[in-house]
Amino acid sequence: MFEKFICLQCGECCRNLLTEQYGLKLGLFLFPAECKLFPSGDIAPLYGYGVKGRSRPRPAVIGFYQYTRNICEHLTPDNKCSIYEKRPLACRAFPVEWTPEGIHLDRTCRFIREHLEEGETFIAVPAKLFPADVLIAETKITNAILAYARAYEVGWTYDLRTKRWVKNDDLIRPLISSLNHIYKLGVTNRRVSL
Ligand code: SF4
Ligand code: SF4
Repeated sequence: MFEKFICLQCGECCRNLLTEQYGLKLGLFLFPAECKLFPSGDIAPLYGYGVKGRSRPRPAVIGFYQYTRNICEHLTPDNKCSIYEKRPLACRAFPVEWTPEGIHLDRTCRFIREHLEEGETFIAVPAKLFPADVLIAETKITNAILAYARAYEVGWTYDLRTKRWVKNDDLIRPLISSLNHIYKLGVTNRRVSL
C-alpha cells in the first residue's frame, strides 16, 4: 500500500485504453459532450438504456460513449496530453474506478503496479491517497451512470469485439451494490436501492 498516489507521467494509461470487463471489450468512457474531443470514426456507443424494437431489441437511448482506439491520439511523444485542460473525466479519474466487485485501482497504471501488492487489486480507497480532483471526476462518472441505472430497468453495454449490444440485466444488481459500497466510503453523495 502507498501513502499518496503520484503520477509518474509514463503515459502507459494512455497507451492501454482498451480493457476487458464482464467478458466484453471496452474503450475509454466518454460523456456525450466529450465525443467531440476525438474523430467521430473513433467513437462507439458504450452504455444504452431502455428497450426499443421487438424483433431486434436494442437500447431506446444511449447514455455514454467510448473511444475505440487503444493508444490515444492526443498522447504526445514526451507522454504529455495535448488536450490536458479539456481531457475527458475518465482520464481525470484514472486509476480509480468502480466495478461490480468493488473499488478498483487499475493495474495498467505503472504507479499502482509498483505500489500495490499482488492480490491487493480490489480495495477500499481512503480519500487521502488521491488528489481531490481524481475522486471528484470518478464521483461525477459514478453518479451519472447511477442516474441512468435508477431511471431505466434495462441496461446495455456495447461490445467492441462483436460490435453488438449486450443486455446487462444481470450486472445491474451487483453494480448497485458496488455503488452503495462507494457511498459508504463517502465518494458518492447518496445511497441507492433497487
Ligand atoms: S485524452 Fe489525454 S489523458 Fe486522456 S487518454 Fe488521451 S492523452 Fe491520455
Ligand atoms: S500509468 Fe499511472 S503513473 Fe503512468 S501516466 Fe498513467 S496515471 Fe500516471
